[in-house]
Amino acid sequence: MYSDFQKHLQAELERISDAGLYKDERVIGSPQAAEIELVDGQRVLNFCANNYLGLSNSPELIEAAKKALDTHGYGMSSVRFICGTSDLHKELEEKIAAFFGTEDTILYAACFDANGGLFEPLLTSEDAIISDSLNHASIIDGVRLCKAKRYRYENADMEDLENRLAAAQEQRFSIVVTDGVFSMDGNVAPLDKILKLAEKYNALVMVDESHSAGVVGKTGRGVTELFNVKGRVEIITGTLGKAFGGAIGGFTTGKKEIIALLRQRSRPYLFSNSIPPLVAAAGSRMIDMMTETNELQDKLHYNTSYFVDHISEMGFDIKPTQSAICAVMLYDARLSQEFASRLLDEGIYVIGFSYPVVPEGEARIRVQLSAAHVQEHLDKAIRAFEKIGKEMKVV
Ligand SMILES: *Cc1c(COP(=O)(O)O)cnc(C)c1O
Repeated sequence: MYSDFQKHLQAELERISDAGLYKDERVIGSPQAAEIELVDGQRVLNFCANNYLGLSNSPELIEAAKKALDTHGYGMSSVRFICGTSDLHKELEEKIAAFFGTEDTILYAACFDANGGLFEPLLTSEDAIISDSLNHASIIDGVRLCKAKRYRYENADMEDLENRLAAAQEQRFSIVVTDGVFSMDGNVAPLDKILKLAEKYNALVMVDESHSAGVVGKTGRGVTELFNVKGRVEIITGTLGKAFGGAIGGFTTGKKEIIALLRQRSRPYLFSNSIPPLVAAAGSRMIDMMTETNELQDKLHYNTSYFVDHISEMGFDIKPTQSAICAVMLYDARLSQEFASRLLDEGIYVIGFSYPVVPEGEARIRVQLSAAHVQEHLDKAIRAFEKIGKEMKVV
């Protein structure tokens, strides 16, 4: 039996490869950091991690995790409601709520699960979900699992959103759902305008702060801080896998009744294991660090402006960004692959993105800045962009 299926899979893999879409994985032999070592021994500066605050290899987080290993062991061997809840889980949930100015938090194994288990317990076929066209795959999957009527509006297009909100008036409850930062362009959701429209049409608002938590806003509280609307959205989801230490874990934080119902009904929470205590402990330490000082957030903001200013001065086209993502537009798919590969030869690790990940004719190199980058790293990257940009006649 397997031989037919095997042939089918081999053909499918070939199609992926022929379309130039086969994703190879580079193997890293060092910790995740601003400078990493690949297993072939090449040392490169990393400009493509979500390690926005440089915490992936933070001595403080490692120490907190090690301590928790000694006091709380390795695994929980249970879901939360059976015997998988430790004091460390409760502490982290409270700290996340305090950080975002919300009422309560529920942890998940990943933000993919937080989004996947969010809508189905809260909404029924009587309700409406109005979702940005560029929302993350996990939101799309979560919406699919829910029977609510679906509406989709063009990315950050408020006129389109208003039309959908008006159309959704016949449903019982409506919720507007958006990423905080859209990961391909680095633009933010216009949350102030979204909230105004939500008020006008009596809708709830959910924002996924995965790429914005720790990054956006003066103190890194995300887009609700940027637009000065902290505490006004009903639901925030986010990940511990990006700025917040980069290990694993996700959360939903918001109104206490919403969180309470999720604890009763959210399937990835009810039927999937608790995060290990060491991750919860390091998460709490991470929130403490971000609350005690603004050093990392300030450093990230400085690094981002420095890089963006220099790259645009050189004549590169970049997408307007309000995050730590800088999309350097090259438009042509082959050109961006070649550009990224030449940057790697210069010791700069970035990824070229092209169709279907971004619209056709909008190929680009996505650069992600980090608080872990020091001046020398930024200057080296900028010089490499200039050198290759000139060689390839982009600038
Ligand atoms: C990365 C990301 C996720 C997934 O987070 P994980 O914790 O890695 O599952 C969800 N939503 C958005 C917007 C993301 O960028």
